[in-house]
This record gives sequence, structure tokens and C-alpha cells, in this order.
Amino acid sequence: MERVDVRGLGTDPVSIRWTGPADLLGLGEEPGFAFPVTVDVRARRLGTRVLVEGRTGARVRLICSRCLEEFEETIDSEVAVEFREGPPPASVEDTDGEGDAEANWFEPPFLDLADDIRQVLLVASPSYPVCRESCRGLCPVCGANRNEAACGHPVAPEAPRTVLGALMNKEQMRHG
Ligand SMILES: [Zn+2]
Ligand SMILES: [Zn+2]
Repeated sequence: MERVDVRGLGTDPVSIRWTGPADLLGLGEEPGFAFPVTVDVRARRLGTRVLVEGRTGARVRLICSRCLEEFEETIDSEVAVEFREGPPPASVEDTDGEGDAEANWFEPPFLDLADDIRQVLLVASPSYPVCRESCRGLCPVCGANRNEAACGHPVAPEAPRTVLGALMNKEQMRHG
């Protein structure tokens, strides 16, 4: 996304709206970010700080961690970032060029929101996606998708509901 020109910012919030492909935010390599991303924030400048608040969202394509089927979901998350006028101080242990991960800096006249928006979206994207709460997952015995057909194997109350659990069960049976 375009950088923000801080010369246009004051104490009154300025609306920044953007919709564009996820790869312009550096999300092109991330699986699932196949659709446009929207950013809707307000920015204001208070002395040497710039506050950016609002929301960002995207439709994402995910793989269910229970049944391994692909599904789509909309993620939507709050953005609240404070930038300080920089350059960022050189940190003592900074060998990887990442700088101080805690602080956000801008060097006038521009401020770049892309890194922070990307982080917010990555955090908002579920680590263990589930296509629906009632998803029955894969049968731990035969691997059938139990949403589609009953394979006949009993569903024990303690049956693992995740793919990882099913795989571990298979592994145990092989060795046990
Ligand atoms: Zn599922
Ligand atoms: Zn089965």
C-alpha cells in the first residue's frame, strides 16, 4: 500500500482507506491470502508521534484442521499502532537488521503502514482453522471425512478431534 505523507497529518484524525491485493502487503507468500485486503484507519499526529487506529480485514482461504477441507472465512481485526519519529536507534544486538521489534518508527515525510497491517492480519489468521464448530473431522481409524459419510467406526467420547490427534493415534497403533 502507499506510504502515508505525514505532512498532511495533524491532531484531527485523517481517514486512510485502502483496498488492494495481499501481495502488496508482503502477504503473497502466505497461504490463504488469495483475496484483496482492506484497510480502514484514521491517523493523527501528536508532536513526534503518529497514532493509527481502525480496522483491517481480508477474506482468506483456509484448510480445516479437523477434516482437511478447504474453506473461506473473513478475518477482521483492530489496528492500533503508535509510530515515533525516527530514525530507529541502532540496537546493540541488532544483527539481523530487524531493529527494535517493539517500537514503530517513521522518518518524515513518509510513514509505512504495510508492515504493521501485515502483522495484524497474520495474527488474526487462525492457527487451527475449523470449517465449522460442528465439524466431525476425519475418522481416527480409517481417515474418512465423517462430515460426508458414516464409515461405521465407533466415535469414542475421547476420540481425538484434530488431525494431529488422529495421526498420533495411527502412529501408536502401528507401534503398539
Ligand atoms: Zn472441517
Ligand atoms: Zn472410520
